[in-house]
Amino acid sequence: MTFRATILTLYPEMFPGPLGASLSGKALEAGTWEHDVRNIREHGQGAHRAVDDTPAGGGPGMVLRADVLAAAIDAAAPADDPRPRLMMSPRGRPLTQARVRALSAGEGALIVCGRFEGVDERVIAARGLEEVSIGDYVLSGGELAAMVLLDACVRLLPGVMGHEHSGTEESFEAGLLEYPHYTRPQLFEGEPIPEVLMSGHHGKIAEWRRAQAERITRERRPDLVDDATKTASKQNEE
Ligand code: SAH
Repeated sequence: MTFRATILTLYPEMFPGPLGASLSGKALEAGTWEHDVRNIREHGQGAHRAVDDTPAGGGPGMVLRADVLAAAIDAAAPADDPRPRLMMSPRGRPLTQARVRALSAGEGALIVCGRFEGVDERVIAARGLEEVSIGDYVLSGGELAAMVLLDACVRLLPGVMGHEHSGTEESFEAGLLEYPHYTRPQLFEGEPIPEVLMSGHHGKIAEWRRAQAERITRERRPDLVDDATKTASKQNEE
């Protein structure tokens, strides 16, 4: 099954951009995923194909018009299209590896890239857009955010990563950040590779990696540890 991304943007020339290189680029060539990039401006109004207007109630900047964006969405995806409709937005629910996994197991997504101050609120409800944020900072447009989301999804598609197992032990997959990696040379600027990793003892290595992952997560992301504890105690109650 091909993962289909339909992207609505005012800057179609930005795609595939970095997604055309490396793993995602090869997967695009191989047909593992495809992207259909639509210019919202094709549905703009009048001779100048206007897509934005001043905010009702005043204030700075411009707002993407509801009628224009609705027409662009309707032309890009029929009402019975089973794919989720996402809108990149700093107000959205923060993107997680769990959401990325769920998306990559599906048929793809329709992704709206915002610009200006944002989009008219009414089209979000009228077209069932799920707002997704890639972090607590503000970008100038949704295109880079859409690329971040797509890159995370595409690398999980079957056959994209070299190793079957790649990905299952990574950061966030078990609610933990990943353990540290080492490779040759055995001695780097006086620092050796931890001895346990050279021991060939698989049980001890797994145990060491787990302990390191827990330590790093506690130090850097106590919020993840809290979430994992909460989930575990909830499961125990059930
Ligand atoms: N005025 C808005 C920011 C608009 S930024 C606010 O204060 O919330 C313009 C566009 O960039 C947004 O419509 C959105 O599509 C995109 N964008 C900006 N930051 C983002 C983020 N952290 N995650 C996802 N999309 C983002």
